[in-house]
Amino acid sequence: MNCLPRYGPLPRRASRLVHVGPVAIGGAAPIVVQSMTNTDTADIVGTVAQVAALARSGSEIVRVTVNTSEAAAAVPHIRERLAAMGIDVPLVGDFHFNGHRLLTQHPACAEALAKLRINPGNVGRGSRRDEQFATLIEFACRYDKPVRIGVNWGSLDPELIARMMDENAKKSEPDEAAVVTRRALVSSAIDSAKLAESLGLAREKIILSCKVSGVQDLIAVYRDLAARCDYALHLGLTEAGMGSKGIVASTAAMGVLLQEGIGDTIRVSLTPEPNGDRTREVVVAQEILQTMGLRSFTPMVIACPGCGRTTSTFFQELADRIQSYLRAQMPQWRGKHPGVEGMHVAVMGCVVNGPGESKHANVGISLPGSGENPVAPVYVDGVKTVTLKGEHIAEEFQSIVERYVKEKYPAAA
Ligand code: SF4
Repeated sequence: MNCLPRYGPLPRRASRLVHVGPVAIGGAAPIVVQSMTNTDTADIVGTVAQVAALARSGSEIVRVTVNTSEAAAAVPHIRERLAAMGIDVPLVGDFHFNGHRLLTQHPACAEALAKLRINPGNVGRGSRRDEQFATLIEFACRYDKPVRIGVNWGSLDPELIARMMDENAKKSEPDEAAVVTRRALVSSAIDSAKLAESLGLAREKIILSCKVSGVQDLIAVYRDLAARCDYALHLGLTEAGMGSKGIVASTAAMGVLLQEGIGDTIRVSLTPEPNGDRTREVVVAQEILQTMGLRSFTPMVIACPGCGRTTSTFFQELADRIQSYLRAQMPQWRGKHPGVEGMHVAVMGCVVNGPGESKHANVGISLPGSGENPVAPVYVDGVKTVTLKGEHIAEEFQSIVERYVKEKYPAAA
């Protein structure tokens, strides 16, 4: 009997296939990477530039805030300008509080969008809530648009949570408040989806999300959500934070869920550094999926961390240079060299692990460590082909990688 633990992710949970413009989410479709702008949507030039940058970096869907009449009026113009640039990335409108009014005043906005995002905790209060929610769903039905029902920890329907807390308090053994809140999040998403269906929105037009900011909470909420429905699921840790903390928290939470087959589309909600690059969240999302073996987007560089055996930062610079070079080539390579996104390039700091790791990569270089001969053997498909030395190791290695791509991933006939 084979007692080894299972290798690899569990099969994807069965979910409905939803079409968001040209992009498929759910079913057997690959897990989709999406992102969100942080420009004022009324600023057409700035928003077009950022959507274009996000799309070029690999975002397959981009969400924009639609919070004012000016923003709603701008959306069709943003769509047109992107089309004129040859960018067909689907745009999603993010609506809160006044979405029903904005779409009524600007129906062209609904037409230009590929999907609406509705937060059931923020569509209105009391009797207005259902009415305003219904108006948004009517627009989705009229313009044949899918909807993400996106519940958020920070804006959970206060009436729902109050009612569930009251019911819990009456139990002989009440659950902890955090458990009730998690249950309320899932109920809010599923009940809102059922309401949308009763208003005429097809099940294949609905995507759900339940975002929280804690790793363990996210895992618990999505396991519950996945067990209770077959809607396509949008996965993301909300307010993940800045820098390494945001990346680590998002990866930890999403890694567990993706390994369990949960999640049809992901967004990494990183707070950019002041004047930081918004496209970083796209790169991180791609790297999560690629390092888990779920999708391939760009050739990966395997580099050792360096240690006392390395005498200079040359190998770090070379690894960085090669990674940047590979990423920069992908917009052209994607069409010209099919399969190149699965390539591995190794850049290693010395002979301890260098030759071994280099042999496992498609192309690898083992740089000289401290006290070693100042030469750098290069391996191609596991075979040592050349030994580089001198001033131009970086340029020569890049040429070898370029030649390998042309030969091994020829343009489709
Ligand atoms: S490969 Fe060499 S330089 Fe790199 S971490 Fe290992 S021992 Fe250090």
